[in-house]
Amino acid sequence: MKKQLIFLSTILSIASPLAANATQNNAKTTNLAELLIEQSAVAYGGKDTLNSLEKIYIDYETTIVGRGQSRATTPPWDTIIADQKEAIDFSQMMVITEYTGQGGGSKASFRTEIEGLSAHRLDLYRKTIAPISTSNFESTAGQIIRTNGTLLLKQALKYKNSSEYLGEQQYKDRTHHLIKIEPDSEPPITLYIDRDTKQITKSERSIGNSRIEYFFEKYRTQNGILLPYVSSFSINGNLSRQMKVESYTINKSIRDLFLAPTNFTKIPGNEITSPTTTKIDKGVYWVTQNMGGGLYGQSSLFIELKDYVLMVGALSGAKQRIEHIKQTIGEKPIKYAVISHHHEDHIGGVQEILDAGISLIVAEAHQAAITESLSDKTKAHFYTINSEETYSDESMQVDIINVGPTPHAEDYLLVHLPKLGILFAADHFEPFSNGPLPPQNENSVFLAKIIQEKNLNITRIIPSHSTRIGTYEDLITMNKTL
Ligand SMILES: [Zn+2]
Repeated sequence: MKKQLIFLSTILSIASPLAANATQNNAKTTNLAELLIEQSAVAYGGKDTLNSLEKIYIDYETTIVGRGQSRATTPPWDTIIADQKEAIDFSQMMVITEYTGQGGGSKASFRTEIEGLSAHRLDLYRKTIAPISTSNFESTAGQIIRTNGTLLLKQALKYKNSSEYLGEQQYKDRTHHLIKIEPDSEPPITLYIDRDTKQITKSERSIGNSRIEYFFEKYRTQNGILLPYVSSFSINGNLSRQMKVESYTINKSIRDLFLAPTNFTKIPGNEITSPTTTKIDKGVYWVTQNMGGGLYGQSSLFIELKDYVLMVGALSGAKQRIEHIKQTIGEKPIKYAVISHHHEDHIGGVQEILDAGISLIVAEAHQAAITESLSDKTKAHFYTINSEETYSDESMQVDIINVGPTPHAEDYLLVHLPKLGILFAADHFEPFSNGPLPPQNENSVFLAKIIQEKNLNITRIIPSHSTRIGTYEDLITMNKTL
């Protein structure tokens, strides 16, 4: 490669001295970047040690900042403390990740196992195992590599031939060399290598409008390798996650480090589907779509009154769901959309709803946060609810009740159709699309309590992420499971 560049520049120098200079400079910056990566490798224990690092298991205690997912609409944001285990076997192309955490009134414990082309998701609470088609070795290993300075350097060694030196920059009062690497089929990453210690203290990359910065601190040596004991990352300058290493295990069989699943039930995977409309009752339609993964469906409820339609739920993909329901309701106008709460996933479709000329019904406390999320605020049109409102005519009754504070949000709108026994309860009751019910959580216990206290007539409960409708009995059964 280097020989070719010199040869090329010799030819170019005859044709154009300017072009020759540019080419030589490129070759020089690549050489300098390569040299700095190799120097850094020495500080991390040597190139051979890094290359022989084939298996790594990291046990993290992670703090997740719930920006956009907190109970309140303004800071300080709620945090989730999670136990996170991440492991890569580079030689076997195997990745295992495990997450156990609770926050926002719910809890989750799942493991992802990827080996070559096969990928599975294990729900450790429900004891289920399902195939997944949305994860692969490269992308999942990439996430683990990006949050660890040592693995990032190992990756830089792999891609050093195409690395580029970007110059010097002060960071935290220290001089850093900036080097760009371009891993296969991924956005480029800029490494900040401390000029004196040769440690990678920071990296950054951009995806769309987001600038993601990763920070690596508290390096210590284990098994002859320099490893960071604190990692964190921020999105557009806002801290998103901090990961403290509890332990590293190097070059041991990664599968042996995870508890073997015993008595797990095989269930079908959540394949990505296009939206489908289900008629739940007279004048009540549910448009749902599976998005793959564990619990990533998105849905809206459409309730037909005499002169108009009322929509409930604004997860992203709202435009598609609105188009889909028109095949059923024809030209009857969709006049309102009820937004259950302010969380970022639940307002992801709000702009599309406003663009379709639909007005929003929101809790008064959520209006500012929802307005803030809009790209075009000129179309914003709100009706706000403090405690309770009823939209009804001779054909239908829709009660919208602010039951906040709940374990999930300080204000929260339930939508109840008392004559039909139907309740929309996003995030407070989310049975999975496949397999057994999840164990109880604070949200499901709260929901059962509210139904009893308010003496609500409920036979069916409509979730927002799952593509499965629950019954009142399901909620009671779930709440008996710890
Ligand atoms: Zn939520």
